[in-house]
Formats: sequence, C-alpha cells, structure tokens
Amino acid sequence: MIGTNETTTRRLAAFSLLFFSLLSFAAAQPTLRVSAQDYEDYSRVIVTFPSPLPFALEKDGNLLLVRINSTASFRLRTEPVKSRFIKSFNWVTSSDLYIIVIEVRHERFRQDSFQIEKKRQLVIDFYELAEPQPVRPEPEKKEEPPPAVEAAAPPVEGISPAAKGIRTIVLDPGHGGLEVGAKGKFGTLEKDITLAISLRLKALIEKNLAFHVELTRDRDMNVTLENRAAIANNHRAELFISIHANSSYRRNANGSETFFLSLNATDEEARRLAYLENNAADLDKPLASENKDDIIMILWDMAQSAYLKQSQRLAEIIQDELNSLLGTKDRGIKQAPFKVLTGVACPAVLVEAAFISNPEEERDLIQEAFQENVAQAIYRGLVRYIKLLS
Ligand SMILES: [Zn+2]
Repeated sequence: MIGTNETTTRRLAAFSLLFFSLLSFAAAQPTLRVSAQDYEDYSRVIVTFPSPLPFALEKDGNLLLVRINSTASFRLRTEPVKSRFIKSFNWVTSSDLYIIVIEVRHERFRQDSFQIEKKRQLVIDFYELAEPQPVRPEPEKKEEPPPAVEAAAPPVEGISPAAKGIRTIVLDPGHGGLEVGAKGKFGTLEKDITLAISLRLKALIEKNLAFHVELTRDRDMNVTLENRAAIANNHRAELFISIHANSSYRRNANGSETFFLSLNATDEEARRLAYLENNAADLDKPLASENKDDIIMILWDMAQSAYLKQSQRLAEIIQDELNSLLGTKDRGIKQAPFKVLTGVACPAVLVEAAFISNPEEERDLIQEAFQENVAQAIYRGLVRYIKLLS
C-alpha cells in the first residue's frame, strides 16, 4: 500500500537524519586516542591529544600513568591492544584530571618518550628489561612451620585441595586496634565480633578441610586496608573473605549482606556503608574526594577485576547459606567500592554478618551460638563454592 510505503520512507529519512547528525556530533567531539604497535625490540604507544594539553608520566609497578590535568571535556578512544608487551589501556577521569593507564605485562620495563608536536602526539616506547634472576625460589617453605596438621587433617566431603587448586584461604577480621569499627547501642565493638567470627571460621575450615587458613590479624591490632590485601597476595590466597558487622542509620535495618567489589555501589545504602568501612581508619583526615587514594584504589581495582565473576558467585553462595541458616531476611548480594577488596588478586567477598546498629541483632552478635552459626554458614558456602570448582 502506498500509504505504508510513504510512512516507511519518511521514517527511514528521519532515522537517517538522526543517524547522521549523531555521527557528525561524534565526529565533532574532541577525542583523545591511544594505540599500541609492536616493533622488533620495543612496543610503541601513541597518545594523540585533541589539543595541546599538559601531561606527566608516572610509573607505578607494571603501570605507566599518563596524567593529564584538564577541565576540557573530550572522549577517550583506545584501539584494541594487540601487543606482546602492552596488556591493556584503561583510564580514570575526574572533573579536572584524566589518567590514561597503560598496563604492561610486567614491571620490568623502561620507557622512552618524545612528542611530535605537529601531530599533537606523545610517543612512548616500552623496552622490556631482562629478568634479574631466572631462578624463582620456592618461597615460604622454610619459614612456615611444617604442615603436619594440615597433612593429617582428612579432606572432608571428597574435597582434596590439591585437586581443586585451593591451598590458602585468607580471612580478614574487619577493623582492630584503635580502629574499632561500628559501635552498638550496648557498647559492642565491631572489631571484637569480626575477630570472634573469623577465629571460629578458621577453626571450622582447619578442622574439616585440609586448607591452610591465614588471618590478616589474630588479635586486637591495627592493620591497614592495604596490608590486608597484601597479606592475601603474599600468601597467594585463593579465596579472601572479609568479615564485618553492618551499621545503618536505620535502626531497624537487619539481616546479613554479602558484597563483592564494584566501583559503583548497588544503591545509596551500599555506598554509605562502603564509605564508612573505607574511612573508619582515618577519621581525622580531612575528606578529599578525587584524591590520589581514590585513584590508586581504582588502579588497584584491576587486581580484583579479573575475579569479579568468581567473587560474585562466591558471594551468592555465602549469602544463600546465611539466609537459610540464620533465617535473616535476604538483603541479597550487593556491590560496593570496598577498598579492602580492591587489591586482592583472587575471588574476594565482604560479609556483613548482621547489623550491630540494630539492638536486637547486636544482642545476637555477642552470643557465641550466633557467632558460630555465622561461621558455619560461611563455611558451608565455602564448601559449596569449592565443590563448584571441581
Ligand atoms: Zn566493618
């Protein structure tokens, strides 16, 4: 029918117009491009600026950062990286700072850079440096006590750690020392609850599974968030569980929550919680957002980002066990930017056992039976997760 055809034609015309105006808009927007190319003995990264912009280079481990101070708005475009030495491009932006993050396969590199002003290009050549010593010592064997107990403990429920590739689990009792965490109405301190639950969970794992459990602290002491992640990585942890007690301005908020990492919080409450957990340690510090810490945190996030899928699965299973064992209302798994998880290079979750800010749950949290139930629930979640891997 003619009428229909006309409508179709008109729609098509309108669509094309929209399409082409979008296209020209995109073309008009200033764009910063980053690309990589391999040469015989180096890899070259070319940053093409939309306009002359001040920048500085900064090496940080296996990363090279290109910091650009600018309030101008432009798009960042990276070509897919196909290089034997350059691993990825990422970027971090805030209102007046762009950081291009060039991830190199390892930290043994030297870079040479120069500018081609005519093309507004920054050229960075990456040279791989020789490995210091080819021998990689089998570390830690000598320092650790003989694993007699581990070896003696029979693997339970058909799980043999070697077969599943899980050898060390790191448990992280939240807070500690001067940094007490959240405080209940009856004076209960989060740091004490998290340690009590962690010690019970450690005992459960070591009794029933032939796994090594490492604690980020085994007594009342300060441990920085960075060190908690470092402990996990130094021990080559294959699972990391941070244990906390929740706190909310809503007094009747209740139940367990299990988190895995995201830079974006699931909701406003998750964001507030992450803020509280991240900043409890330095309440005296003036609050400066967009500071170096935030950026480092985002960079560190790349350690955890490789494990988000597994972390999510682990969180789901643990949350499921907490729900059925404790009969707490399902608050679901959530994502939030918890600093303690960002640097951990293995599946990692953060469990908020219950609300210390809710007087009823505070009473539960100080009960040994309740602490044991929480430990049991997390333990059962772990067992299920490990079975999944087989
Ligand atoms: Zn906490």
